[in-house]
Amino acid sequence: MLNRPPLKVLIAAPRGFCAGVDRAIQIVELALERFGAPVYVRHEIVHNRFVVERLQALGAIFVDELDEVPDERPVIFSAHGVPKSVPEAAQARALTYVDATCPLVSKVHRQAQRLIEDGRHILFIGHAGHPEVIGTFGQVPEGSITLVETVEDVAALASASAENLAFLTQTTLSVDDTAAIVAALRLRFPNIRGPRSEDICYATSNRQAAVKAIAAECDRMLVIGAPNSSNSLRLAELAERCGVPSRLIERAGDIDWQWLGQPRTLGLTAGASAPEVLVREVVEALRTRFEVSEEIADHSPERMIFKLPRELVA
Ligand code: SF4
Repeated sequence: MLNRPPLKVLIAAPRGFCAGVDRAIQIVELALERFGAPVYVRHEIVHNRFVVERLQALGAIFVDELDEVPDERPVIFSAHGVPKSVPEAAQARALTYVDATCPLVSKVHRQAQRLIEDGRHILFIGHAGHPEVIGTFGQVPEGSITLVETVEDVAALASASAENLAFLTQTTLSVDDTAAIVAALRLRFPNIRGPRSEDICYATSNRQAAVKAIAAECDRMLVIGAPNSSNSLRLAELAERCGVPSRLIERAGDIDWQWLGQPRTLGLTAGASAPEVLVREVVEALRTRFEVSEEIADHSPERMIFKLPRELVA
């Protein structure tokens, strides 16, 4: 066998599946057990093709809209949350539905509703078009919430209602970018009301902290995650900002070997919707070209577990 160059693979921790993703996948599996196939799922249950294809093989059918679900079959709503109008439409059709919205997203929904009851206008920090943003906007009356994506957006906001503003955030944002936007909001609107604790979820902030912790040691970084996964995109972006050339890949087959070259230390992490099996797949692919030594970065383990919906475990 040819001599392979040595490569240290520094695996970030925590990485991969969060409690909300784990719960959403379990909900689909339990629903398949309880109701039999097919079970319909509105939108990708989580942003990962591997996960979606596995559930499809078990009998899940993924659809974009509720009107694609036949009356007699159950439907599950994805972890990102849905506008209020979606369960309302399901009820109107007497559909059986299970809501797999992550409890941390539901918490933001409740905060939004309370702020509107208090007469506030919400400035929502998030990314246009992301399903979580669409879901949260759909909790409150139209016109009562405004999207803020950047610090520049803050300067462009009309200040007419400056006294009754509040802000909330998407759960999967860049911790650093959000802090800058919040600082700009507080500077411009000193009386703005913010959430008591950070809305960026524990999984998003822990995975970002883990990348920061290893970045200085890495010559290259691979982030396993889908191109539409907000928290995965943020990990690749963060590594780049730390000065480490980084790529977001869905699977081992996406590794650009020319770009990778012959680094001494490669950082490896995975977004909250990427299963560990894909991390192993990438390590095995690296072994075909390098003499790999693996090291798991020091970390504080996550112990978060969310309860499953009563209707599936009762
Ligand atoms: S990334 Fe955070 S908000 Fe999204 S499902 Fe996971 S725990 Fe919930």
